[in-house]
This record gives sequence, structure tokens and C-alpha cells, in this order.
Amino acid sequence: MRGETIRKDNAPSVTPNLSDYDRARSAFNWSQARTVLSGLPGGGLNIAHEAVDRHSGPGHGEKIALRCVSRDNAVSTVTYAELARRTARFAHVLRSLRIGRGDRVFTLLGRCPELYTAVLGTLKNTSVLCPLFSAFGPDPVEQRLRLGDARVLVTTAVLYRRKVADRRASLPGLKHVLIVGPGAQELPGTVSFDALMSAAPERFTIPPTSPEDMALLHFTSGTTGTPKGAVHVHEAVVAHHATAAYALDLHPQDVYWCTADPGWVTGMSYGIIAPLVHGLTVVVDEGDYDARRWYRILAEQRVSVWYTAPTALRMLMRTTPREGPYDLPRSYDLSALRFIASVGEPLNPEAVVWGQEVLGLPVHDNWWQTETGCIMIANFAACEIRPGSMGRPLPGVEATVLERGESGRALIADGRVTEVESPDVEGELALRPGWPSMFRGYLHDDERYAASFAGGWYLTGDLVRRDRDGWFWFVGRADDVIKSAGHLVGPFEVESALMEHPAVAEAGVIGRPDPVAGNVVKAFVSLRPGIEPAADLERELLAFARRRLGPAVAPREIAFDQNLPKTRSGKVMRRVLRARELGLPVGDLSSLEGPS
Ligand code: AMP
Repeated sequence: MRGETIRKDNAPSVTPNLSDYDRARSAFNWSQARTVLSGLPGGGLNIAHEAVDRHSGPGHGEKIALRCVSRDNAVSTVTYAELARRTARFAHVLRSLRIGRGDRVFTLLGRCPELYTAVLGTLKNTSVLCPLFSAFGPDPVEQRLRLGDARVLVTTAVLYRRKVADRRASLPGLKHVLIVGPGAQELPGTVSFDALMSAAPERFTIPPTSPEDMALLHFTSGTTGTPKGAVHVHEAVVAHHATAAYALDLHPQDVYWCTADPGWVTGMSYGIIAPLVHGLTVVVDEGDYDARRWYRILAEQRVSVWYTAPTALRMLMRTTPREGPYDLPRSYDLSALRFIASVGEPLNPEAVVWGQEVLGLPVHDNWWQTETGCIMIANFAACEIRPGSMGRPLPGVEATVLERGESGRALIADGRVTEVESPDVEGELALRPGWPSMFRGYLHDDERYAASFAGGWYLTGDLVRRDRDGWFWFVGRADDVIKSAGHLVGPFEVESALMEHPAVAEAGVIGRPDPVAGNVVKAFVSLRPGIEPAADLERELLAFARRRLGPAVAPREIAFDQNLPKTRSGKVMRRVLRARELGLPVGDLSSLEGPS
């Protein structure tokens, strides 16, 4: 199917924001993109002002900003004016707690309206917001709270009891825990979010904010060591706005639904910030994936632009085979839908075609990562789609392919790198720094940040090839991180948790390819002397890991292996485990320890 293109027979009902790719690229510059935003009345730039306050006056204030669908399908709405009041109250709450500029406020919440209040209220107060995915277990939560210097946590009684209460003593910097909903009275060391909110005034003047002030902290996983806290600043909003116009083709009348959880960067940049900066109505679904639920939301909420993920599309494809006795999507009125995009993992060509045939619209894949803060490469509404390709760089984005060295990453010689000139040659994807939402550092880790750049390029860690017409095709990761169901999992985090179990001597964790989730996390463990592999122990280890790590990170499979392949320095070689698992040649084993 590669090389085919998708014709878009149903012409979009609106004129795309980007109609001529080459012209848009040559005409674009970031300073001009900045002028479309309002800026703070006294100068400066604050994400919450662009997303909420500037839309809250007469004429737009009555427009629905959030349409929240609860787990039991009740729909509640929040207008822009109301969102401005709620976020003002929360900014006051923080101020009353003596939380100010740069202080870290963490959220550990499902997709409830209070999450949106906490995120945008924190930004109003010029504090820094760090979202945690509510399906993380206690280990990832504790680690991120500690690494990120959390001062405030906004969560619910259930999540606090399950994931934080036992670890609170080891987090002395966490001064305030605000409990959304009931339960604060029974939980020592917490206060009621609702009580504080109702006592707070509903007008707040955003303090002066420099575009370079830190706004967001997003943890992401690496191959080794602890998770990395990618730092983003208020200026990122320029890129959120511009890229959403080009890659998601947002128009003022759109009803928009991003299915990503705001615990991850997509759910923050494009689930909260970008659509609100565009002044749209945003659908928020508190529930979990369910094919019928999703089609119903698309139909009943009259969603026009939908941003989702390949795993979700593959799950929908499974419930709705193209030729089937029961054609689920056709039993819903999806006529409002005019644009579909997806991100986070490779989108297989079949999913693009399925969209076209079953939903009447192709899926536009795009590419970016936590560090880039915004979409970098995309298939655009007005342009041809090459199914299986991530598309072409956005206006304002310069991307290239770098020659690889033995490590698998870009070859760096005397600080210099070499661009691949020929088409269709694999190499590491690199981006020219300078776009507004580029991360400004890894928190407390300057060395790691510096190592992400070479020869004037930011090195993404992804392997790609570029065809002769400039379309980029994803090949794989150059490192060992695992993308499972769209979530980035660091193998080191999983290995460390397993090694806490008294039966485990060592562990090596890889992604095993899976037709729906992309990869599932698989762990190979060697046992301590005297302990025998057994089905009971396997179950116990799976449950142990799940309790500590949560379902989004824990391994789905465990294999016992007393001969884990290791380097001479004693590191488990995940590359060899992966090759063995896939029945592929293991490659150069010269660094392997002893015979294996
Ligand atoms: P995260 O930082 O969690 O958003 O994950 C970013 C990583 O997801 C990228 O470095 C890629 O490995 C992967 N990714 C994102 N978008 C795509 C895409 N369209 N195709 C293939 N992989 C993708």
C-alpha cells in the first residue's frame, strides 16, 4: 500500500487554513504567528490569558468552552466566562497558599472539569503545571512528584488514598494536597479543593508573565535513568495556536474532541491549550474507550474535528470490520465530522484507508514528541495523503535525516553531524531548534539536555526516512523506549520496579509488537538463587508490577530467563532480548558477556 495516495473525494466544507503547502512554508515566520495572539494587557504572554481571559468578555464569553461528558453520560457545560471565573478562583487559592511564580502544581485527576480549572488557574498564577496520568501507579507518581519538586497536588480522595497517602512522608516538599470532591476531612494532611474555591474571589489579574517563564513540566521516559522533566514556557502557546490551525485545520465554528488524556503532552497541548486559544468548544470525555460510547459522542456532540491515536483507531477497526454484518459507525450520524488526525505511534496505512471507507474521511497522521511541545510533521487537510507517512514539516519547522553511527543514533564526529542526501535512506530525525514550544531543558539535568543537540540540530531519537518528495516515514525508535497503546514507557522504570521483588535478580524489558497496541511491555527476569520459575510466581510478579506501576506502565508478559544477555559491564542487552523475541539476527555481540 506504500506509495499509494489517498484521494479526498468528500471536499471539506470549509476552506483549509493551509491550502498551498509550499506557499505557506515560504510565507511563514514565528514572529508573525505571535502577532495573532493578544498578549497580556500590560505586555508579556501568558497561556491562560490566550486560552481563557481574552475570550471571556461580551460576545464570546457565553460560548461553551467545555462540554464535559461524565462516565454516566451526563453532559455539563462551562462557558468561557465561567472558565475565566473558575480559573481566577483557583489562581487566588494558590496565592492564598503562598504558591507563586515557578512553584510546581501537580494534577492527578481524571478528565473532570476541575482538571481544566486547575491547569489554567495554575498558569494564571504564573506557577508551573505538571500533569500526572491518573492510571500511573504509586511508584511513577511518587518519583515524578519528587523529581518535579511538587509543592501542590490536586487530586481526588480515591487517587490520593491509592497512590500517594503511603508515600507522603517521603515527600516533605509537597506542602498542600487539595482534594476534589468529598473526602478531605477523612484524609489527614489534605484540604478540600471545593471549599477553598468557594471562598476565593472570581476576578484575578494575571501578573506580568515573560514568554520565557516556565509554564509546563511534562515527564517523559528515556532508555536509562529516571524520567526526564521536559520544561516548556509560556511562549509555547504561539506554536500551539499556529500548528493547530495548520495540522488540525481548526476553524472558529468547530466542535473539537482530542481523546488524549491531559496527563500526556498531546492532551495538554491539543486537548486543552490549542483549542481554547482558538476559542472553540472542546468536548471532554471522562469515560474510558468504548467503541459505542465514542461513536455516540462523535454523533451527539456533533464533533467536527477529531484528534485521536492509532491504537484507538485500530480498536475501532476491530469492532467494525470493513465488510461486516453489523456496520457500527454507519448507525450513527457522523455528518458533522470533517477532519480526523492522529498521533503518537505509527499509523498503519490500513487505518488511513479504513477512515476513508468507513467514516468517509481519511486519517491525517502527524508526528511530534514531548520535547517538541507541538506538532512538527503532518499530513494536511488540503494535501495529498501518502498512507503510512507522517507527512511533511509544518511551516516554521525545518526537519532533516542524519546519518547514523554504530550506536544506532546520529553519527557525531567533532561535534558535527551529516545530513542524509539521498531519498529513502534511514537515519535519525533531527529538527532545527528555534520554534516557540521547543523544550527549554530537562529539569535538573543540563547534561542530558545538552546531549540532545549536535551540529545545530535537536536529535529526536526516532529513525525515519524521507522520500524524494519530502514526505517523512517513521521507521522506529533509535533507543529502547517503548510505545505501548500510545504511551511512552521507559524500560528502566519497569526493570527497577520488578527488581524490588525479592524473587527477582535482574530484569530486561522490551516492547513486543502487538497488532492493536503497537507494542506490549514484556519483561524477562532472572531469579535469585534457589527460586524456581513457576506460573504462580509469574502471576505474582505481574500483579506486583501492576500495583506499583499502574496499568499504563506495568508489563503484560513476563518470561523467566536465567541467562539474560549482558554486556561485559553487566548491563542487560535489551537489543538482544528484542532480536531473540522476534527471531531476528542479534547483530554484533562483541560486547556480550561470556557465552549466552
Ligand atoms: P511522547 O513524547 O510520549 O509524545 O512520544 C513521542 C514519540 O512517539 C516519538 O518520538 C515517536 O517515537 C512516537 N510518535 C509520535 N508520533 C508518531 C507518529 N505519527 N508515527 C510514529 N511514531 C510517532
